Amino acid sequence: MRVEEVRNDIPLLSRVIYLDNAATTPTPEPVIHSMLEYFREYSANVGRGAHHLTEEATLKYEDTRDKIARFINASREEIVFTKNTTEGINLVANGLNWKEKDEVITTVIEHHSNLLPWQRLYKKNKIKLKVVNSRKDGMVDVNKIEKEINENTKLIAITHVSNVFGSIQEVEEIGKICREKDILFLIDGAQSVGHMSVNVKNIGCDFYAISGHKGLLGPQGTGALYCRKDKLEELEPMNLGGGTVHSVSNYDHKLVEIPQRFEPGTPNIPGVIGLGRAVEYISAIGLNKIEKREKKLKNQLTEGLESMDRVELYYPNEEKSRSGVISFNVKNLSPHDVAIMLDEVENIIVRSGHHCAMPSMELLGVEGTVRVSFHYFNTEEEINILLDIVKKIARSFS
Ligand code: PMP
Repeated sequence: MRVEEVRNDIPLLSRVIYLDNAATTPTPEPVIHSMLEYFREYSANVGRGAHHLTEEATLKYEDTRDKIARFINASREEIVFTKNTTEGINLVANGLNWKEKDEVITTVIEHHSNLLPWQRLYKKNKIKLKVVNSRKDGMVDVNKIEKEINENTKLIAITHVSNVFGSIQEVEEIGKICREKDILFLIDGAQSVGHMSVNVKNIGCDFYAISGHKGLLGPQGTGALYCRKDKLEELEPMNLGGGTVHSVSNYDHKLVEIPQRFEPGTPNIPGVIGLGRAVEYISAIGLNKIEKREKKLKNQLTEGLESMDRVELYYPNEEKSRSGVISFNVKNLSPHDVAIMLDEVENIIVRSGHHCAMPSMELLGVEGTVRVSFHYFNTEEEINILLDIVKKIARSFS
């Protein structure tokens, strides 16, 4: 699919310059249409009853599981639908059977969603927590992680792509170490899936948490957790209820098979159906094309920003570690002021603040940053408009 076709599918893009794709992405018309179709034509619950509407809804709902599985090279029973990445990570943190002395290693560049669940376990004395430092450019050295491993290390949790620095972490290397040392490996995939090719088997991870509403262009309130089959069998579901049981007596119950035992109650059926359509949509564009285009836009933006001496950029030193998420600050100006000016002058939508990653801000020694994040539909012209205003802001206010 060409850029113009995608832009036509997202009417919002004719009103604003949307550069906040790391927070959430606008929804293309075919995805919206697939959800409307559910509401209008076969609105029914899933996995319950025998009538033909429930059958149709269940087929569509389960079809998304197949699509997500194929998209990341997993099998369908390894995919649990969640609300978002945050829920997926909490499902693992709360579902594992922690033993005395168990240790978890994570890093300072994590989004709060991949830090707080581990901190809670730590504060309840269920685990020992080690938070590995990062280089100032947002890359975590794998040997620093390796140094923290000992015989009690149970799990390593790291983001695939940082939502502050856009740094692509060396997850394959960490996966290799985890396999060798029999350590569980969880990846926060909020900023990677839909922007780059992800193959959970090649990475060698046990858990990979995904949001539907970011790179995948799916609806808000959708996500998935990949969980290696044998590990999912071990995990205890966070919530129980309808749809998770095989049989129930007054004081006992037998859970259904994985992954359905992790999806209690009526799920977000239209959302999951929309997510399936979104995966199809992203595949029709092509991940290679998305990756190539985001790289080009990123180069254009960073070259432009680097040429401004009152602008400070925060992104990885090495080209291969960079993605379509870029943070910067204009000297002597708060990131919120910069974001408000961009919005007021040219309807440019960017994120400002700490990005739910306060330890990353501490690492940088700043209160917050301005963050630009791309998707396939952004254009060179949009970047030029942004650069032009940032230049004027930097000249006028610094
Ligand atoms: N991890 C990272 C790296 C993120 O960027 C985000 C969203 N900003 C999250 C986790 C949380 O995602 P969600 O809000 O969809 O749970």
